[in-house]
Amino acid sequence: MQTDPTISPDLDCWVEGANGHPDWPVQNLPLGVFSSADGLPRIGTAIGDYVLDLDALAQGELIADEDVREALQQPMLNALFALGAEAMKGLRARLSQLLTDSDYRAAIGQHLIAMDEVEMELPALVGDYTDFYVGIHHATNVGKLFRPDNPLLPNYKHIPIGYHGRASSVRVSGHPVVRPSGQKRPSEEGAAPTRSPSARLDYELEMGIWVGEGNALGDPIPIEEAENHIAGYCLLNDWSARDLQAWEYQPLGPFLAKSFLTTVSPWVVTPQALAPYMKPMPPRPEGDPQPIDYLAGGPDKAALGIALEVLLSTEKMRRAGDAPHRLSEGEAAAAMYWSAAQIVTHHASNGCNLQPGDLIGTGTLSTAEESGYGSLLELSEGGKKPISLPNGETRTFLEDGDEVTLRARAVAEGQPGISLGECTGRVLPARG
Ligand code: CA
Repeated sequence: MQTDPTISPDLDCWVEGANGHPDWPVQNLPLGVFSSADGLPRIGTAIGDYVLDLDALAQGELIADEDVREALQQPMLNALFALGAEAMKGLRARLSQLLTDSDYRAAIGQHLIAMDEVEMELPALVGDYTDFYVGIHHATNVGKLFRPDNPLLPNYKHIPIGYHGRASSVRVSGHPVVRPSGQKRPSEEGAAPTRSPSARLDYELEMGIWVGEGNALGDPIPIEEAENHIAGYCLLNDWSARDLQAWEYQPLGPFLAKSFLTTVSPWVVTPQALAPYMKPMPPRPEGDPQPIDYLAGGPDKAALGIALEVLLSTEKMRRAGDAPHRLSEGEAAAAMYWSAAQIVTHHASNGCNLQPGDLIGTGTLSTAEESGYGSLLELSEGGKKPISLPNGETRTFLEDGDEVTLRARAVAEGQPGISLGECTGRVLPARG
């Protein structure tokens, strides 16, 4: 039953080219931060081939809620996120109304800027970044490389595994990926470790969750309320140096192998926009434990019906004018053993306070099939099986000049389909 009018497939938007737009129809209305010729970052929404300047809109009388008006005039989304789910739903409803009632065309048309004339910025100031590991096929594939007979550790099906990442090195799509250098495992026992540029640089296909309203320190978030603390979703690439990771990760987990850069797509696609595409979580296989009470229950449709793909473009391909090569495609819902709601609830379950603009990664989202593997580590079986590209090049890990693009679309029967945009990065040579 569809009760939210902002997701109706029948909406008619007066912005030229917006109706039936493959990425940004009026049913999407993602939030982001952009800058145009004058260079000042401000909040906007994507509509068709345009960005609507919400800062400019908020300076007029068309947004009634004073708190929302004030938050929209900030250069980042944190203040808007802090207002919570009801305020954000109210803003969405109003934007939908303004963009579908042609009476507003004269007042608002002047605040539309062609999307190809703006630069997208990081949507929020990231106070904390946490990366989970809920992609069960990824965890199994990686586990198999180390423990062929027992790939999943005993905790995996009881507890959403995560670690604290580095917030200062989160960047928006397009930021270059400088190849990190670091210590590597000695080639033989008793030998000294070496330090050099990573030779096993990899990407990880993930979804990002932007935290909306936070929780007070000491107060857990019940699973029934978890979705109200999610401002929206994006794509996330957890760039990883596998050779650095292998030497440093025991006993405390990843550190310099991951903290050199994390890239996110610029638009925050809200839970309201994604509601028509959500699915029930895949049933747990027979014999798997049921979630412990605090992680049980929650939304009926907690799985993300989002189609994901990874594209690679090498320098040689670009020189020849070749299209990027698709390395994999899959669906987030098929990859995640724990839902976004379970991730948020678990994160706050010890009383840890989440804050507006915190970023949470799901972990690499691989499907069960090789065609849906979300990292080169898996596609090349730990570097043992080179991947052949259409132009005759091969890859086990990323080379300088390689450009990786993550893409995501939400698709469902009877719905127009909406995009989550792209998350891109090109590898530059090491600097030391
Ligand atoms: Ca990761």
